[in-house]
Amino acid sequence: MALDFTFTEEQEFFRQTVKDTVNRLIVPKVAELDEKEEFPLGLWKGFSALGYLGLRHEEKYGGMATDTISQMIFYEELARGSCGFAMSVIMQILMGTYFIARFGNEGIKQRILVPAIKGEKIGTICFTEDQSGSDLGGTRTLATKVNGGWRINGRKQWITNGPIAEFSTVMATVDPKLGLKGLNFYLVEKKTSDRDGFAVGQRLHKLGSRCSETSELVFDNVFIPDENFLGEEVGKGVQYAGEILNEVRVMTAMNALSIAKGAMDDARGYAKNRMAFGNPISKYQLIREKFAKFWAWYEPAWNYAYKCAWMIQNKVPCTNECMMAKYHATEMCMFAVEEAMRIYGGNAFCTEYPPQRYWRDAKFLLYGGGTHEVLCDYLGRIYCKD
Ligand SMILES: Cc1cc2nc3c(=O)[nH]c(=O)nc-3n(C[C@H](O)[C@H](O)[C@H](O)COP(=O)(O)OP(=O)(O)OC[C@H]3O[C@@H](n4cnc5c(N)ncnc54)[C@H](O)[C@@H]3O)c2cc1C
Repeated sequence: MALDFTFTEEQEFFRQTVKDTVNRLIVPKVAELDEKEEFPLGLWKGFSALGYLGLRHEEKYGGMATDTISQMIFYEELARGSCGFAMSVIMQILMGTYFIARFGNEGIKQRILVPAIKGEKIGTICFTEDQSGSDLGGTRTLATKVNGGWRINGRKQWITNGPIAEFSTVMATVDPKLGLKGLNFYLVEKKTSDRDGFAVGQRLHKLGSRCSETSELVFDNVFIPDENFLGEEVGKGVQYAGEILNEVRVMTAMNALSIAKGAMDDARGYAKNRMAFGNPISKYQLIREKFAKFWAWYEPAWNYAYKCAWMIQNKVPCTNECMMAKYHATEMCMFAVEEAMRIYGGNAFCTEYPPQRYWRDAKFLLYGGGTHEVLCDYLGRIYCKD
């Protein structure tokens, strides 16, 4: 019996525990978090105390060292609450700390990873620049080797947790002419002895996911010591980034599944109560069709995303599959949030009702882990390869 679609008892229990936590701590605050557009430090502290920030890290640093499927369960349940808060939390768990856990020496792990897992230090990852988003080969932030360390010069854009971060994993090039082959990761800490030149730039006001703070970060001749070079060899940054891309894509799929389900479940409640022409609108076939199409799209997207989680966990090569999981779940989500907006009629246009928030939150899923054009370009090339 090789094909097994069941979760373990531990995974089911974990899902229920996360669901209860999200229902208790986050769900009641969702509208307020969206409206205030501020990072909720109190919520962050309460949430961190439960240990979830160490989900994928070793127990000796305070982590939970859970399996990949449990991590994906967590991402799915978390995004059912506030998508913005989920962005900040997932940045900390996955992208913000991965390279520190992978390459940091013991001193760095004690100084950064241990407090990061406790929620005491907040982190970021910095790829995107003014002229380089999908195309990392266009990175201009420069890392220059100097005696005892590196000098970093450049600006990063769209950095989740940027305004509140204590540490950043920054992608920079040793020479822009080298394209992808010149890229590396560097750890920039806010509280090093020489923090001159580091500044938070313009804060961005976002359409959705508004309680995760986002900004530019500016590095003006910032010195970092040699130990903050995160890698074994110069020029391997893209290869290292590739190590977490599958996880990032399936995580994004989980967020998409969650937002889509939330939007359509709320819309179902609305449709059963909203009267038109003498009936609840849920009685009309054209309204039911929206739920039917969503459901028929959602279930395979959900199953496929967990298949990819299983493949990652079992170290089965799955680059193409994870791209497809992200693409499929996110396109399904775009459909669901749009249909939810229509089911609410004019009320959808009022911030008092939830569908506009789901619609706004969902849009950010289109960019991280590869835009859909970039994913399709890659998949199309692979499919048509001779
Ligand atoms: C809410 C939010 C949070 C973010 N957080 C972070 C963060 O913490 N750290 C970070 O580094 N970045 C972050 N980003 C940036 C994100 O990673 C980029 O938006 C993403 O990489 C896409 O890059 P871009 O926006 O520059 O778009 P571009 O790369 O400029 O693309 C613009 C358009 O061109 C299309 N395109 C590009 N190349 C091709 C091609 N070869 N073929 C066809 N079409 C193409 C794209 O699909 C898109 O439609 C965040 C973005 C958002 C919206």
